[in-house]
Formats: sequence, structure tokens, C-alpha cells
Amino acid sequence: MQKNMTELRVQAVHKRVEDVKLYINGQFVDAESGMSFENINPFTNQINNYIAEGRSEDIDKAVAAAKEAFENGPWGKMKIEQRMKYIYRIADLIDEAVEEIAILESLDTGLPISQTRNQVSRGAENFRFYARMVQTTLHGEAYPMDHEFINYTIYKPLGVVGLITPWNAPFMLETWKVAPALATGNTVILKPGELSPLSANKLAEIIDKAGLPEGVFNVVHGFGETAGARLVAHPDVRAISFTGETTTGSIIIKNSADSLKKTSMELGGKSPLIVFEDADLERALDAAIWGIFSFNGERCTSNARVFLHKNIKDQFISALKERVANIKIGDPMDPSTELGPLIGKEHFNKVRSYIELAKEEGCEVFQGVVPEEVKAGNFVPPTLLLNAKNEMRVCQEEIFGPVMAVLEFETEEEVIKAANDVKYGLAGFVWTNDLKRGHRIAHAVDAGMIWINAQNVRDLRIPFGGTKASGIGREGGHYAIFEFYTEPKIIHVAIGNHHIPQFGKRKK
Ligand code: NAD
Repeated sequence: MQKNMTELRVQAVHKRVEDVKLYINGQFVDAESGMSFENINPFTNQINNYIAEGRSEDIDKAVAAAKEAFENGPWGKMKIEQRMKYIYRIADLIDEAVEEIAILESLDTGLPISQTRNQVSRGAENFRFYARMVQTTLHGEAYPMDHEFINYTIYKPLGVVGLITPWNAPFMLETWKVAPALATGNTVILKPGELSPLSANKLAEIIDKAGLPEGVFNVVHGFGETAGARLVAHPDVRAISFTGETTTGSIIIKNSADSLKKTSMELGGKSPLIVFEDADLERALDAAIWGIFSFNGERCTSNARVFLHKNIKDQFISALKERVANIKIGDPMDPSTELGPLIGKEHFNKVRSYIELAKEEGCEVFQGVVPEEVKAGNFVPPTLLLNAKNEMRVCQEEIFGPVMAVLEFETEEEVIKAANDVKYGLAGFVWTNDLKRGHRIAHAVDAGMIWINAQNVRDLRIPFGGTKASGIGREGGHYAIFEFYTEPKIIHVAIGNHHIPQFGKRKK
């Protein structure tokens, strides 16, 4: 086992991985156009491999296969227990491949291997969780009306659903959508982020191995403006679950209007973390550092704005500086690496331009140091923007990198106002030992999710999602299966002879 892992790691670092095809109707196929695109390694900026570039015609093929599988294949007619056997089998196969998927994910995204391993294991749990949930809780309601009627509901899958995912935590986010979509009986087209196709391809291999009927699950790699846009516009696709940037979400909502699709939007964030003077400062420090520098800062719920009470500000900032200087920057394949390279050159340039902007806006910038030997990668060192003011662009716009803006506050009212003075509303974190105050802040901050004295941990049963420009709808828990991937069908049945008005009936 140890040898295997080492071999895989060596292969991943030194060799090109296999080229990737589309997965349509149970087959790995080239794109109809024969085109493919380069997949670049963020650590070396060398080509990892080539990815088949799906476009409209490939989406059309995948949708036709998924529609046929939904309407005429065995998936829809299968007993729940049998369908769930497939879902559990997918989870088991993921477990067997955790190390391989984690390596592929790190190779593709630059995320440190110590972090991708956990994410991949969560992917397996997503399938188990939704299998259990569908088996135990996906049932309707019944309302007897006196002795005349029973009204009842059953929850039906939608049909063909499109899942569009980003590059920042690919496998976790993909399985987070694929698991409830399949468990509830839909058929699926997954359009993964074009910068992170490897683990999605592995998921296709696993689902293929699990033996799901043809057409139930399909993966079309490609770009948003072509493959993604066609999936959104396709009349036979009933719903789009999207995770990505706010601006993309808004385009998708517009483009899905003509075909009246149901959409779910998990979008960007600029979340506040507020530290009061009575907080457990050591734990708040751990959480603040982890919350922005894990995942290379490419995390939707990251605490990009940290508000420090003026009485603890100086002390907290010196501790932040010490930690930032010590964060281990390096090869994502090295298990001791804490911060890896950003996903691509374009994003790297964007994040760096925000750091320059911060200087122009009046921030003092404090950074770790990128070691000389890894300079070929897209490394942005962990960065603190000190003396930040909430109205600065660097506090208002999502940077999506290892960059923490540090702000000062004095009163509760002032910090609530500043925390809310931003277009986003995904997450928020408050650190205080005054629990009443913790709850007050949690109620007052406009965000879909607030953690009190905690970092970003959550139970799969609880809903996940943002408000304002951070999203519409919720994923997770029963929201995914009742509110999104199924819809209630209402059945009214007469059990007595109730009154029916007799229009047009003449008395004899
Ligand atoms: P992105 O919006 O650029 O791309 C996401 C996906 O949308 C990709 O698969 C892309 O190809 C596709 N796409 C792009 N244009 C499209 C179009 N016109 N039609 C259909 N599909 C299209 O996002 P990204 O840069 O990949 O990801 C980073 C963003 O995702 C950040 O803003 C981050 O906050 C957000 N995010 C949010 C959550 C959440 O749960 N709220 C989780 C992770 C990431």
C-alpha cells in the first residue's frame, strides 16, 4: 500500500497523467469536434495532460442519453433499495481510491495533499449520507379531509439535471451535488470546472465501475461559455445547480429563463470574522489563520475580512504576523505543505493585482516568503492587509486568494454595520466568550451561515448557502432532496361521495 502511494505520487509529479475524455452514455469518448485543451499544473506551469473539449453538440448528446435513461431506462423504475446499492457502491469505490483522487486533485489545483485527502473522504460520505437520507426521510405528507378525501404528496425526481461546478474544491463540490441528484433518481450531466477536470474524470471512472445504467451519469468537460451555456439553455434539462462566481450565477439565471429552469446558486463571498476582547484569542487566531490560508485562500467561506476589537488589535496582529511568517509554502504533494500555488496564471495575476491595489488604497502589506525553489509555481505568499478600511475595494471585492484584510472596531453596532456593508452574505464568524453577544451578532450579521467560536465545520444535515450576492437557495441536508432535486406531486383522492356541483343538469 505504502509503495503504491509513493509510486502514484512519483507518477503524478514527474509524468503526464493520461488524457481525459468525456463520459457520455456509459462510454469514454472524444469530443465530437475532436478538440481538446491543455490542463496546466499550477505548481510547475507545465502541461499535466489534454482534456477533450465538449461543446454544444456533446452536451446535446449527453442530454439525449440522460433523457433516455430517465424516461426509458431502469433507473427510474428501480426499487429504492437497489438504487441505493449503487450509491453505496460509489462511496466504497471512492474510499478505495482516496489517495489516488487526492493526488489528482492536488496535481490539478495546487491544493496541499494533506487538505485534498480530507475533502475526498468527505466525497464518499456525501454519497452515504444521501443514500441514508433518501431511504429514511424522503416521504410525503398526507391530509385526510373529514371522511371525504385524502390529499397526499409524493416526491418525484425532476428528470435530467445539470450540475456546474468550480475549480476550488472540485471533488467535494461535485459529489455534494451528484450524490443527492442520483440518490433521488435523477439523471445527471456534470460540467466540471475547466481548470480542474481530473477528479471529475475519476468520478466518472468510479461510477462506470459501480455499474450504473448507461446515461444516468455523464461528464462533459469544456468551457463555461460553450459547454456550460448549452447545458443551461437546453430545453430538456430541468434544473441547474451551480457553484461559482456571482457574475456567472447571474448570467446563468438569465440564460435559464427561456427554458424556465429551476436553479440553485452557491456564489462568492467576503465573509467577516469578528474577534471581541473577551474571546479565547489563541483559538480565534487558529481559526482566523485556517479560515483564510487553508485551501490556498481559494475558499468561498474564507474569512477575508477580520475585524479586531481595538483593545486586542495590536496583540492579535503580532500573533498573526508570526503565524503568517511560519506558514509552510511548498510543493502541494509534500504532506507538510500548508500553502500551495494558486490554480492558474490568470488567477495568480488577479490576486497579485489586488495586493498592489491594497497598497494604493493605503494598507500596510505583510507577507510570508515564497521559497526560491518553488518560484515556477503560481505562489502568492500568505498576506495580511493591515490598516484596512471596509470601504476599500480590497474589502468589498472577492479576491479568492491567501489575503486577509485586517480591520479595527470599537463597538458592537459599528462592527455589525461594517460586516454588513458589503454585497456578499455567505458566511460569518464571531469570537466572544459572551454568548449573549455571540447570538446577537449571529442574528444581526447578514449571512447565510454564522459560526460562534468555531471555524468552518458543519454537519451534513444542516443547510448550506448564502444570502445577498452569495446565493439563492440552499444545498445540503433535506434542502437538497426536498427543495431542489425533487418536487412534490400532489394527489387528491376521494374516499366518499363528496358534493360535486351539477352544472347544466336539468331536473326531470
Ligand atoms: P466560475 O463562475 O468562473 O466558474 C464556475 C463554473 O461555471 C465553471 O465550470 C465554468 O466553466 C462555468 N461557467 C462559466 N461561465 C458559464 C456560463 N456562461 N454558463 C454556464 N456555465 C458557465 O467560478 P470559478 O472561478 O470556477 O470558482 C470560484 C468562485 O466560486 C468563487 O467566486 C467562489 O466564491 C465560488 N464558490 C462558491 C461556493 C459556495 O458554496 N457558495 C463554493 C465554492 C466556490
